Amino acid sequence: MSGVDLAVTGGRVYVHGNCRAVTLGVTDGRVSHLVEPGRSLDADRELDVGGKLVLPGCVDAHVHVRPGDDREGVDTGTAAAAAGGVTTVVDMPNFPPTVTDRERWNENAALYDGTARVDYSMFGHVAAAHNVGTGDVADLAAAGAPAFKTFLSAGGGPDPYVIRDKGDLLTAFEEVAETGRPFWVHAEDDEYHVEYLERVAERGLTGMDAFLESAPPILETTAVRDLIDLAAETGTTTVVAHTTTAEALDLVAEARADGVPIYAETTPYYLGIDEERLREIGTTALGTPPVRSPENRAALWERFDGGRVDTMATDHAPRFDEEKARDPIDVGPGMPQLETALPFLLSAVGEGKTTVDRVVETYAERPARLLGFERKGHLGVGADADFVVVDTDAEWTVDPEQFESRATYSPFDGWTFTARPVRTFVRGQEVAVDMAATDARPGRLLAPAASE
Ligand SMILES: [Zn+2]
Repeated sequence: MSGVDLAVTGGRVYVHGNCRAVTLGVTDGRVSHLVEPGRSLDADRELDVGGKLVLPGCVDAHVHVRPGDDREGVDTGTAAAAAGGVTTVVDMPNFPPTVTDRERWNENAALYDGTARVDYSMFGHVAAAHNVGTGDVADLAAAGAPAFKTFLSAGGGPDPYVIRDKGDLLTAFEEVAETGRPFWVHAEDDEYHVEYLERVAERGLTGMDAFLESAPPILETTAVRDLIDLAAETGTTTVVAHTTTAEALDLVAEARADGVPIYAETTPYYLGIDEERLREIGTTALGTPPVRSPENRAALWERFDGGRVDTMATDHAPRFDEEKARDPIDVGPGMPQLETALPFLLSAVGEGKTTVDRVVETYAERPARLLGFERKGHLGVGADADFVVVDTDAEWTVDPEQFESRATYSPFDGWTFTARPVRTFVRGQEVAVDMAATDARPGRLLAPAASE
């Protein structure tokens, strides 16, 4: 026995910016060999992937698995991740009771332990009603939270999630800066949001018109300008969650070129859906902030391909059917995306819209670096053997009934994709085959090193 557990042969392996025809060897859950195709590693198991692409497993830094909740939960949420080629998930804290102290964080960690099919960690929440200036932020970082989250506007939802007061906001940013961890922020200006909600009511708007006009782009661009100032003032690594406008992406890119530690995240939803498509599909395709014009969506693709989207995530957030069936302004926003994100992005590569490099950079490498997960997001020797084998010549149609997720709908329902994750491995263990989870549950809680 050579001691090598697994040899993946016949693949085009994405290693540090190049697709290389090499054999990938896995020993004790790590990438131990990248060798010329002819060389045998004498491994316990050999897997010939027949010329397919082997990419680093995706690192999804924005999911709402909602441990213990019937809308998803750890079992099906991490099964959806595995099926979609996502090998690390970081869970958002905002569902009741929101994760604002170490005790709650540990409770959720316990729900992942032994059940998770992929590696994981969890955000800490910073919210005015709970833990600004209480010491909980430092405590959550000490417990292992790799990042924090807050909301600038409640979006018509409950208050316990937000920080509205500028003094509280400054304190929160200072406290997060002290931890050295990044701060994800839902960037919609609260005062404008309240104003536009009032105007929509005064004008008697209903349906999708009411929803779309209640949160126009000025909410986001104003909030992003404030976040740039806060990041510059406090030195906090700041990530604009699910950016929706090309203008906001440009503001972030220009600020970072000036040395401000701010980054922009978006999700496949904003690249795939716009106002016209939302109106056609209806409330199952409704998320917040709202999608924008078709022209903006085209501009987002240009920015994505041009390197102005720093990090991709799914914002995977299934809802009950009755939550999606309400009037648009009251709909439970959010949707499953873990099983469609990588197929969506790689199908776009097939269409010539962007490159594999952009996909790996935004959906594996950068999120891993921002979170301080040094052995994630790449396949260099020594990295965790987290990878996804992708068939880039597989035509298939999205059918939510086939999802591992509990969600019964998708904004991409009925779409035809040309790329499909066919095998997913977490630290050398096979967690999904042909978009169906296996019985393996190797998921571990990740400890962050220093952030980017
Ligand atoms: Zn979210």
